[in-house]
Amino acid sequence: MDFEIKVYPDPVLRKKAEDVEKIDDEIIKILDTMRDMMYSYKGIGLAAEQIGLTKKLIVIDMMPEGTSELIQLINPKIVKAEDIYEEHEEGCLSVPGYYDVVKNRKKGIRVEYIDRNGNEQVIETEDFLSVVLQHEIDHLNGTLFVDRLSPIKRGLFKKEWKKIQKERQEKE
Ligand SMILES: [Zn+2]
Repeated sequence: MDFEIKVYPDPVLRKKAEDVEKIDDEIIKILDTMRDMMYSYKGIGLAAEQIGLTKKLIVIDMMPEGTSELIQLINPKIVKAEDIYEEHEEGCLSVPGYYDVVKNRKKGIRVEYIDRNGNEQVIETEDFLSVVLQHEIDHLNGTLFVDRLSPIKRGLFKKEWKKIQKERQEKE
């Protein structure tokens, strides 16, 4: 399987992901590929849509290089969220080179998912992992962090993005 990171405004990033019905060899292979791509691009999270697949799969590893705390989530869903909001600067492998503060992330969340062995798992967190989980689960719903910016900032993003694209093209 040969995959590449899909970059904004690729339409696959707008698709809603489908539930994984069965954890077979193909799903395990995809999870491993996503893990390897996340590490090689030095991301801390990756959703399947970012490699062009509309399946509810996410990999996360927030530990610095050399250590690993890999989480592989199948069919994750947020089942509880506190009504407290937090601001964090976010970036995304699908919007390379652009970072901005997202103001409407929930602080504490509870996420249920299936692990690669088919076991039901729960994560409850108030830490930065909460933000990362919300960012990745957004991907499964076709939402990018730049969609969560205010209209003014979104306008600025679009301008900035054109500049980033132009610079990239000139380099090539
Ligand atoms: Zn992302």
